[in-house]
Amino acid sequence: MSAIHLFIPHYRVEEVLGEIRECLETGWTGLGFKTLAFEQAWRKYTGLPHAHFVSSATAGLHLAVRQLKEAGGWRADDEVITSPLTFVSTNHAILYENLRPVFADVDEYLCLDPASVAARVTPRTRAVCFVGLGGNVGRFPEISELCRRRGLRLILDAAHMAGTWLEVEGERRHAGWGADVAVFSFHAVKNLPTADGGMVCFSDGALDREARKWSWLGINKDTFSRTQSSTAYRWRYDVEHVGFKYHGNSVMAAMGLVGLRYLDEDNAVRRRLSAVYDAELAGQADVLPVPMAPECLPARHLYQVLVEARDEVMATLNEQEIFPGVHYRDNTEYPMYSHGYGTCPHAQQAGHRVISLPLHLVLDDDDVRRVARALVDIVEARRILGRS
Ligand SMILES: *Cc1c(COP(=O)(O)O)cnc(C)c1O
Repeated sequence: MSAIHLFIPHYRVEEVLGEIRECLETGWTGLGFKTLAFEQAWRKYTGLPHAHFVSSATAGLHLAVRQLKEAGGWRADDEVITSPLTFVSTNHAILYENLRPVFADVDEYLCLDPASVAARVTPRTRAVCFVGLGGNVGRFPEISELCRRRGLRLILDAAHMAGTWLEVEGERRHAGWGADVAVFSFHAVKNLPTADGGMVCFSDGALDREARKWSWLGINKDTFSRTQSSTAYRWRYDVEHVGFKYHGNSVMAAMGLVGLRYLDEDNAVRRRLSAVYDAELAGQADVLPVPMAPECLPARHLYQVLVEARDEVMATLNEQEIFPGVHYRDNTEYPMYSHGYGTCPHAQQAGHRVISLPLHLVLDDDDVRRVARALVDIVEARRILGRS
């Protein structure tokens, strides 16, 4: 039996090489024509008004927090309510700007629980950062309404949400709609894989324009538009800020352009494989799939279940050449976020029970059945042995 891994990125190699070849033949691999084409294609696909291609979602989250802080006149130690059940990038981005991450608990979707968020709002709260775990929408619409009512900014960590659609007042909207800024990831293990890359989508055009300067060292004009200029001074530019080197490049954008063409198709495969897991695991009281929010067509970046004795169950799966993952450990268990330890009991419990089962485009239905049956057998055997 061959090994079954959590993620294997799948690339349309010839088509990707064709797009990259164009970068190489024109001699333009940096910020330029392909990054602009990818941004344009992303705006067209999502319907979001602005899209800025950056080197990673981590860079994009930092830009997102930074621009909102600057625009809102936030001060050091102002608070951002965030999820403890996420990749650390989400919360590092808050700390990069010397703001304080305040952890709220998660609900059955493993996304921020609106009641817990409401209970954490203080006079120093400036924003909420919602993570669409596994491509799920959770109770994002309620959080969005809460932010509107309380005058808070809303940041969406959409690293798992490329191609997640939701229904808002009868309209089909891409994830990011209703947030002040949404940040997507195109890292190699995400559901629209390049090698590394991200997209930061502000709802406000002024913030998008500012972010473009900050992502290129504070320089106010990019090289590409300078070479297009007809003036004799096209080598000149101004430096307005101590900015960062966060912009994306044309080779990664070339990979992203191809992935975007197949995103809906690929996510449909993920949803189909997820339905096979659902059918296999239906009625198993000791293996609980994390539900997807209704009225959402999720990207299905992850298929997650909750089990007791997770670490032992994972080790036994590994013995059978099945290699699932964990998304995520409760961040308040890390020393640097320990100020939140014990404040989010549901997230803490989920952090000890959650498993992400293998889900990628190289799997077929039989692979999924093998994983599900192995999992059920292990959990069943433990139950019979009295969880020894
Ligand atoms: C992967 C991930 C990120 C960071 O994405 P990069 O593009 O690797 O920087 C941020 N948040 C979540 C939830 C992620 O899974």
